[in-house]
Amino acid sequence: MKCALVGADGAVRHSERHPTDAGRGPDAVVETILTVADGLAAKARADGLTPTALGIVVPGVVDEARGVALWSANVGFRDVPLRELASRRLGLPTALGHDVRAGGLAEARLGAGRNAGHVLFVAIGTGIAAAHVVAGAAATGAHGAAGELGHILVRPDGPVCGCGRPGCLEAIASASAVAHRYAELAATATGTATGTGITSDDGSAARPDPGRTMVSAAEVAARAAAGEQLATRVWREAVEALADGLATGQALFDVETIVLGGGLAQAGAGLFDPLRAALRDRLTFHREPRLVPAALGDEAGCLGAALLALDQLEKR
Ligand SMILES: [Zn+2]
Repeated sequence: MKCALVGADGAVRHSERHPTDAGRGPDAVVETILTVADGLAAKARADGLTPTALGIVVPGVVDEARGVALWSANVGFRDVPLRELASRRLGLPTALGHDVRAGGLAEARLGAGRNAGHVLFVAIGTGIAAAHVVAGAAATGAHGAAGELGHILVRPDGPVCGCGRPGCLEAIASASAVAHRYAELAATATGTATGTGITSDDGSAARPDPGRTMVSAAEVAARAAAGEQLATRVWREAVEALADGLATGQALFDVETIVLGGGLAQAGAGLFDPLRAALRDRLTFHREPRLVPAALGDEAGCLGAALLALDQLEKR
């Protein structure tokens, strides 16, 4: 949990982090959220500041209008009225939002999408999720589930996604999918070499070491940049699937700027150069968006929560 005291100007005055420990179950997580929020408000008062509003953002499906965390695979939320629980505990007006939409909001207003007007924020980590931000507000969808770009169908014959359907974008291009695919192909490559008795006196250094430990997506990117064949193949598959997903996103939203966040976006030019080219290849009459890395790092969601809290004050 990333937590902060944020001024009306968007400046962070104080920040802290706490373990979520989702394994304890949703009730314990909610209690921790409320206790930490209470502690932050007390810290603000002790510093001579006046807390005016609280913003909380969580993963999963969130009904922002009703302030209810409807569902979360990671934390186990089921219909938790988090906004009401928090405003009762702290006595402050409270906003409840979705973590990726809040991150997108912050990137669009304070970060890499600043001044763009129409922004698509795409977070690529263990999954892929997006936020479409127009004029400083992220669309939530009718059921709190807008922005699930990771579940765009890009490879009907592809691997099965966590959602149960084969071929979703995140089953191919998320950081965890890249790592899994690489491990899978590395194991096959080794098996073939052993089984057929193929030996090589010059190619061994170029062959991946499957090992027993999973290689991270960042490492796959690095190996691809170094010219390793298997990594290059896996990376290219991921980049092309991502380009398909982003082209669909651009067809739907016609944004000025696409901001890529999450772990995979840290691959730098190794991701952005081929991805820009692949996206350009797929666009016909649509205008090419600016494709840029996120600027706020893993604090984007936290800053977005503060923006939701401040926005709510303005609406009152
Ligand atoms: Zn899916």
